[in-house]
Amino acid sequence: MTLQRREWLKTIAAAGVGALGYTLPERIHAQTTRIQPLALKDYQPKSMLHVPETHVPRSRFPAIDFHTHLTWIDRKGKTDVVHHNATPEEVLRVMDAKNVRIMVNLTGGYGALLEETVHHWQQPHPDRFIIFTEPWYAKIKLPNYSRFQAEQLEAAKKAGARGLKILKTLGLYLRENVTTGSLVKVDDKRFDEMWEAAGSLDMPVAIHVSDPEAFFLPTDRFNERYEELSAHPDWSFHGKDYPSNAELQEARNRVMQRHPRTKFVCLHTADSENLPYVSECLDRYPNMYVDIAARIGELGRQPRMTRKFFDKYQDRILFATDATPHGDETPQQIFGNELYEIYYRFLETEDEYFDYAPARIPPQGRWRIYGIGLPDEILKKVYFENAARLLGL
Ligand SMILES: [Zn+2]
Repeated sequence: MTLQRREWLKTIAAAGVGALGYTLPERIHAQTTRIQPLALKDYQPKSMLHVPETHVPRSRFPAIDFHTHLTWIDRKGKTDVVHHNATPEEVLRVMDAKNVRIMVNLTGGYGALLEETVHHWQQPHPDRFIIFTEPWYAKIKLPNYSRFQAEQLEAAKKAGARGLKILKTLGLYLRENVTTGSLVKVDDKRFDEMWEAAGSLDMPVAIHVSDPEAFFLPTDRFNERYEELSAHPDWSFHGKDYPSNAELQEARNRVMQRHPRTKFVCLHTADSENLPYVSECLDRYPNMYVDIAARIGELGRQPRMTRKFFDKYQDRILFATDATPHGDETPQQIFGNELYEIYYRFLETEDEYFDYAPARIPPQGRWRIYGIGLPDEILKKVYFENAARLLGL
């Protein structure tokens, strides 16, 4: 028998069971172990779809970006200080290239810090930058805090602020003794005078309560934001004394109900994973609006529901990105040309299955999005007119 024939017979025998001492499962195992295990973080699948890729370098109509963070208040030292994330010139270059007429810097601070923010951004470029103020939470222990905070808002308006920003601090971080004690609720009565003052001063309230629904669940293999939460464990609001997403949403609703003359822009589409619920809220509270900042990852993976949502609430949805210059921690927010081009592609085209953030791996969850191809009439409202009306421009 030739060597070749002997080899061939061995192969035939191995295909059966036990001929050479290998069972079929053992052979499959031997074959598959040749492929090395792959860590989830290293997995970067490339889509094989042949679909249109539209580049939208400028928005079809001039835009107001209603939600940006050009400054932060740094509260870590002995005294709070304003941290400017960029120079106005650096930001204006991108704005001009991308057709953004106005940027609203929500985190403008309070007291003397607010004045500094206004001085740095708004005063040299009054037609390009708008500044919002924030509550002075560190004063919550003052016996007359309600009045103090309402008066602060009046002073902020005089200093140049055009609206009031509420971070998720209220409801998830602020405690009775600022950092200790029980959590202060979103509808705590101590803020009633402030909400009322915002209405009478005609200052819209940009309010962020809660966070993605998955942040309230265990960070386990069922969590759709497992990678994001693993990278930022402090973003989880699971357990401890945290309220649920539903409790936070309902507390905010009670505030809107109690202050019908005050206009509330619920940031991040209020509860972007649950558009039927957001629709109910919009139907119930005529003083409610929403922005889309940092949530095209959610809206764009339910494009048919989102398209209907934009049709129905086209007068109450605001273009916004949550843009943060040099905000490398959150790729979905890094201010720059690429960020705006993704938003424009989502709103204006019917492109399919594209990245929602300029990042190697989708940072908020491993999925891609679909454009909703809005008509001109709705685009004009969402890009500019709705925000202009709210801001009294
Ligand atoms: Zn933000």
